Amino acid sequence: MIREGTRTPVFTLKPKISGNVWPVIPDGLGARMLAVLRQLEDSQWLDPDALRQRQFDQLRTVLAFAHKTIPFYRDRLDAAGISPGVDLTPESWERLPLLTREDIQDAGPSLRAERMPRNHGKPTPITTSGSTGKPITAYGTEVTGFFWCAFTIREHCWHDRDFSGTLAAIRHFRQRTAAYPEGLDSPSWGNSTAMVTTTGPAFMLSVHTPASQQAEWLARRNPDYLITFPSNLPPLARYCRDNAIHIPNLRQVCTLGEVLQPEARSLCREAWDIGVKDIYSSQEVGYLALQCPDHEHYHVQSENVLLEILDDDGRPCAPGQTGRVVVTSLHNFAMPLLRYDLGDYAEVGDACPCGRGLPVLKQINGRVRNLLTLPTGEQRWPIFGEGNFNEIAPIRQYQIVQKSLETIEVRLVALTDLDDDQEERLRSVILDSLGHPFTLVFSYLDDIPRTASGKFEDFRSEIGT
Ligand SMILES: [Zn+2]
Repeated sequence: MIREGTRTPVFTLKPKISGNVWPVIPDGLGARMLAVLRQLEDSQWLDPDALRQRQFDQLRTVLAFAHKTIPFYRDRLDAAGISPGVDLTPESWERLPLLTREDIQDAGPSLRAERMPRNHGKPTPITTSGSTGKPITAYGTEVTGFFWCAFTIREHCWHDRDFSGTLAAIRHFRQRTAAYPEGLDSPSWGNSTAMVTTTGPAFMLSVHTPASQQAEWLARRNPDYLITFPSNLPPLARYCRDNAIHIPNLRQVCTLGEVLQPEARSLCREAWDIGVKDIYSSQEVGYLALQCPDHEHYHVQSENVLLEILDDDGRPCAPGQTGRVVVTSLHNFAMPLLRYDLGDYAEVGDACPCGRGLPVLKQINGRVRNLLTLPTGEQRWPIFGEGNFNEIAPIRQYQIVQKSLETIEVRLVALTDLDDDQEERLRSVILDSLGHPFTLVFSYLDDIPRTASGKFEDFRSEIGT
């Protein structure tokens, strides 16, 4: 039904009309979703100019609405010369100031539309502390939720998943349910896919479970697909590799919610001889970029979001340059986010050989909070030579925390405490990589806990917190 390159996903619809078996007449929601998916099939191949033109067509309706109903945006849009009736151009768009998390905190409810247009459903609050630890509340609608589902299905289709297969999710579950040894079972993959197809069952396990128990659970469940956080993969894959735990049916791992390190991809190949497909999304804006079906880089989901990568002067970055990620939701009329600075950085890539016109992100570099601050005040992405750690000692988990301008704590979970010689070698690897003679303080833990939301950061800075 849906043709995408050489891939032809099969949607197995449940008949809803008595006597109708084939071809199936879908219900209203299913029909709508199939119609949108059909458009996404075409739009991914549009050239960048055509994509931009359609984005601006959609954006104009959001801007007109924001100008009419939200004084905060009216002032900003007027000051930037982007008023209804005035032509929206890339140049005028770049005059609109970036929206920071502090702006959203300060503005509070005044960023919300008092009245929504018809047929967008009820606004739903989404509270997120994002990548900077500064909580904000955004609002989504039934329309933004619908698009969330559409891009979930696109992601499955891009990576050629067999919907009749089984899906295991090792994630954070709010009430700490999905506990080992059983976890939770679900008859289907979830609400998104249920709109257009029947699926196999799903199994869920809390990401707070130790790697050895995750491995045992995974081997017992033997799923076709695994979805989890990037930082959960290395310990799990390493444990399976070292203990020769095979998951015979497992054919793909999908990650989301954090920066995926190259090490996680190579460990998955070593442990199970399979690849990883990564998702770049945010709670506030939804799907931002999906890994290309044929490469390890990402395609921006331009039908959902206008995504800009900007340099320090606010100019668009060229391929090969890294800049801040600034996003505008194209479908949110409850609380529009216009040129919202997410706090992430990404590198712009060249056009993709796969032929899709959706812009390319070569890599997503992580978050502002994770910058290293040198005593001069200069900040940069830290590298700490973690690829060499296991040549020095059997380190199972680490977290590097910048405590002050001069002091860095190296938290280690190791099979045994390091001896003086090992500590000295580790110190020299880390300091060489960081590029400054910080004072390193080693501490040994049994476990390094995740944040309340189940995420994990291998480097974080406490400066300014
Ligand atoms: Zn591609």
